[in-house]
Amino acid sequence: MARRKKIYEGKAKTLYEGPEPGTIIQYFKDDATAFNAEKKAVIEGKGVLNNMLSEYFMTGLNTIGVPTHFIKRINMREQLVRACEIVPLEVIVRNYAAGTMAKRLGIEEGTQLPRPIVEYCLKDDALGDPLVTEEHIAAFGWASQQDMDDILSLALRVNDFMAGVMFGIGIKLVDFKIEIGRVYDGDFQRLIIADEISPDSCRLWDIETGRKLDKDVFRRDLGSLTDAYSEVANRLGIMPKGATPMARPTLIN
Ligand code: 5GP
Repeated sequence: MARRKKIYEGKAKTLYEGPEPGTIIQYFKDDATAFNAEKKAVIEGKGVLNNMLSEYFMTGLNTIGVPTHFIKRINMREQLVRACEIVPLEVIVRNYAAGTMAKRLGIEEGTQLPRPIVEYCLKDDALGDPLVTEEHIAAFGWASQQDMDDILSLALRVNDFMAGVMFGIGIKLVDFKIEIGRVYDGDFQRLIIADEISPDSCRLWDIETGRKLDKDVFRRDLGSLTDAYSEVANRLGIMPKGATPMARPTLIN
């Protein structure tokens, strides 16, 4: 069996060279980190849940015409994705004040915002992913003005899709983070949604009870993270009740 080539190992995922040029295998680890990796744990089953949940959201986005890097899920922990150049920004969309924005602006967590607010952070772990403005982005050439127009439009479309899907299962989409990839089709470049969309990168609150069903459960020691993510998967009908997310991967190649 040929050994496959590791391209990159991040905090929650490892990327391997895919079977065809221009493809990548994205492996979801069980590692959980918070506060710029100051808090760390291995949470058995988290990778399986995020793989399934990200597949669900990315497939939905592809279906409604919001382009993503997702091609197909390969097994319980891996998915095949399109290779892309990652734009060095974290794009955050907020519907309710929470997390760093609530703290920064002194707004009570859970306050509904007058409209969705889009923020940009520079993807740089050493600097703690600092908030940046479009002035910084243009001046330092991280993305062009056309890119920024496209990124804003993609981010708001993802927000409408995700907020609707979550509303349908009794969950409020408080905020989320996405990453953007650049792909080239001949002479043209396009931007697509990359990385993952999962409870690791969203804030999800039960509409009735306010129970947190996202990574804040880990960040703030609020109980079992896999119970929270399984709840989201169960409500979406993608993880039958009683199924275990603890499966080990079937390696390909
Ligand atoms: P905040 O800025 O309030 O910490 O995060 C806003 C939203 O973006 C939250 O849903 C949070 O989970 C997500 N987010 C921000 N930075 C990161 C990051 O580095 N990794 C992940 N997975 N999510 C992030």
